Amino acid sequence: MTQPPANLPPGASADAVARTLARHPRPLGGDTARSVGPAAVSLTGMVLNNRPDEPHHRAIGRKPDWLRARVPGGAGYERLKTIIDEHRLHTVCQEASCPNMGECWGRGTATIMILGDTGTRSCGFCNVKTGRPAALDTDEPRRVAESLALMGLTHVVITSVNRDELPDGGAEIWAETIRRVHEACPGMSVECLVGDFLGDERAIQAVCDARPEILSHNMETVKRMHPAVRPQAKYERSLAVLAQFKRSGLVTKTGIMAGIGERDDEVLELMDDVRAASGAEILTIGQYLQPTRNHLPIDRWVHPDQFAMYRREALARGFTVCESGPLVRSSYHAEEQARRLAGG
Ligand code: SF4
Repeated sequence: MTQPPANLPPGASADAVARTLARHPRPLGGDTARSVGPAAVSLTGMVLNNRPDEPHHRAIGRKPDWLRARVPGGAGYERLKTIIDEHRLHTVCQEASCPNMGECWGRGTATIMILGDTGTRSCGFCNVKTGRPAALDTDEPRRVAESLALMGLTHVVITSVNRDELPDGGAEIWAETIRRVHEACPGMSVECLVGDFLGDERAIQAVCDARPEILSHNMETVKRMHPAVRPQAKYERSLAVLAQFKRSGLVTKTGIMAGIGERDDEVLELMDDVRAASGAEILTIGQYLQPTRNHLPIDRWVHPDQFAMYRREALARGFTVCESGPLVRSSYHAEEQARRLAGG
């Protein structure tokens, strides 16, 4: 097994880091924004934004104070970490070196990743391993449900890698996982963050029919930037996915990153498009952090006041809940959002 580095990311065990390093041919770092060097190119300036009337600018080197997160630790954190390690579950929290692990795990929230740890897509912002995935593990729904029953959560977020090589994109495993978790954990609401299943309506419907309490699909970025940021996805296709969730009568959620090269007017346009296409209730917006220097560079640090403006605009457009802030991730405060929607 590959030896872990001396400076472990916050909250990571040496074993977990060694396992991850064996899978990732990339440098790992707990402080994602600080561990990258200067951007080789600014996508805004060099590729994506060729408007002559706008100044081109490069990423700012130093991570601003508002992006400092709590160091992981405490009884709740240790308890969740032990269950996750013992059951050898994959979490997005660890794979993405998420800066919120201290806070989320301390509150008993984690995002479980199913369908393995290797995806078929290679989005420029995502740190999940890309390649040929292992054979489908049909026992995974049972193991996930049993592990979650031990955790005693009130709300869980489950996501997956993209499995475009499977005829149904993994939809049956998704549906089985949701059913099993509902059976094993009667008091737990289930939030699923899924891919676009290449727009396959039958596959999407199989997930909808399993009735997760919240169904989420991330737009990730504004329309103009899709070819560079999500080359294997399509803006209109993602809107159609959200529309199908809503037609199925499910609470619908989406999320985007800020600071990867978008402009404010394009963010507002995306809000309008999502509301018009789907009537989604929940929107999350958070600062993009470059996982490694092999990923897309950070274009700008978005100020907390700017995030507050996004939130006001989202609520004015009819979103019921908008979580918008530098450290927000799609699953950040997910249990609170579920409670607020339920009127709690
Ligand atoms: S924000 Fe999501 S990915 Fe990050 S630690 Fe919390 S639950 Fe995990």
